[in-house]
Amino acid sequence: MQWETVIGLEIHVQLATKTKIFSGASTAFGAAPNTQACAVDLGLPGILPVVNEEAINMAIKFGLGIDADINKVNVFERKNYFYPDLPKGYQTTQLEKPIVGAGHVDITLADGSTKSIRIHHAHLEEDAGKSLHEDFHGMSGIDLNRAGTPLIEIVTEPDLRNAEEAVAFAKKLHSIVTTLGICDGDMSQGSMRFDVNVSVRPKGQQEFGTRTETKNLNSFKFMEAAILKEVERQIDLIEDGGTVIQETRLYNGDTGEARSMRSKEEANDYRYFPCPDLLPVIIDDSRLEKLKTEMPEMPDAKKARFIADFGLSDYDAEILSADQGTANYFEATVHASDDAKLSANWIMGELSRSLNQNSIAISASPVTADMLGGLIKRIKDNTISGKIAKEVFEVLWQGECSTADAVIEKKGLKQVTDTGAIEAMIDDVLANNTQQVENYRVAEEDKRGKMIGFFVGQCMKASKGKANPGMVNQILKQKLDG
Ligand code: ADP
Ligand code: MG
Repeated sequence: MQWETVIGLEIHVQLATKTKIFSGASTAFGAAPNTQACAVDLGLPGILPVVNEEAINMAIKFGLGIDADINKVNVFERKNYFYPDLPKGYQTTQLEKPIVGAGHVDITLADGSTKSIRIHHAHLEEDAGKSLHEDFHGMSGIDLNRAGTPLIEIVTEPDLRNAEEAVAFAKKLHSIVTTLGICDGDMSQGSMRFDVNVSVRPKGQQEFGTRTETKNLNSFKFMEAAILKEVERQIDLIEDGGTVIQETRLYNGDTGEARSMRSKEEANDYRYFPCPDLLPVIIDDSRLEKLKTEMPEMPDAKKARFIADFGLSDYDAEILSADQGTANYFEATVHASDDAKLSANWIMGELSRSLNQNSIAISASPVTADMLGGLIKRIKDNTISGKIAKEVFEVLWQGECSTADAVIEKKGLKQVTDTGAIEAMIDDVLANNTQQVENYRVAEEDKRGKMIGFFVGQCMKASKGKANPGMVNQILKQKLDG
């Protein structure tokens, strides 16, 4: 039997406001436990929440960024349940009238094809606190600092068909919210959390199979692994004569283990009702128009421009436009070097390798775009070869000098372009390798091209990489053939 996978995602995105969604308490990460939750965040008797205007604006920008309908009247509701990290007994969220209606996010797959994923809606809500299960000797601690942090929850239609599409979608969404500046995108701190709904059906069948939901995946890697594992589990189960039950599951990224958390029957009845303390949010046209003027260039538009203006390949443009930091760095490097192709190669090669190895964000790179641009300039004008350039880059990375020119000067790396000096070097190499010279001279014409590489290599070695390779090649040919 051939099986087809169906996936829909629900994503919590933490909005980058300075204060909470209904109070003036700070949202800064890393404060001492329970120092940033005020009476409103805790839902103490007598409080009155006030909606954070910036959270509304950010949600609207998200809607504009995915071509969605903005609901000009949207309503906050209470979702009632008790949990230690939600001592107020309800989460304020949106259900019937969410702020963002239907939209779409377009993804590019590895084979170059594109696909449009429909967004069902996105709503505003508050985050809960956090239970801490370590360091309390058999007890749990509660940190309520996160209570009331603004989130948008984005819900997709079940349009994704495999883990690759789901990951491409997740990365694109990350790219959109960070470009909009509405989320810091730091997944390790939980700024984006993915719930994955998965079902399988026989290929060709119209009806969807029963889905499970795996909650709170906070890395692309875990998400991919959790999907692959769940698809396999469901197919095995059905092929062994069992049935998938609708349930919520947990996946532990560290151990790769998955388990059931609760079935649909055990799910809460949340008794939603419109929050009596909050008026409906009315979005007028002037606010919408103003926000439209503040919209940055979105990743798809940026990618198209990189292809049109800089002649980048689709692949390079996709990578360099994916996040704001990389895109800015790339444009600044092109500006400083006047060479888009070399800038792209260096950023996706040497630079990203060094950043990854050291877990440094591109915005904090010790080699700035100006420094890299200056280095590329010296490759272009033949002051240094591409190989020496890697040495220069390394010195810049270590912070020993602040410009490529200073490194070249200090280390004496300037390329040798003096004909006399190169000739002398070549004469030495030829004199020391008389047998190879003999072999070359008796070889067929079409074999010589390859054989000359040996002499070029010897000359480059003798010059410690500093001889201009083009000149070495040319003079060698003259001496050997002439
Ligand atoms: P509920 O109302 O029970 O929360 P929704 O219809 O809102 O269910 O769907 C929640 C998420 O599950 C959405 O992302 C949706 O795309 C996805 N989904 C719904 N049905 C399926 C299915 N059969 N297989 C996979 N994903 C599904
Ligand atoms: Mg739902």
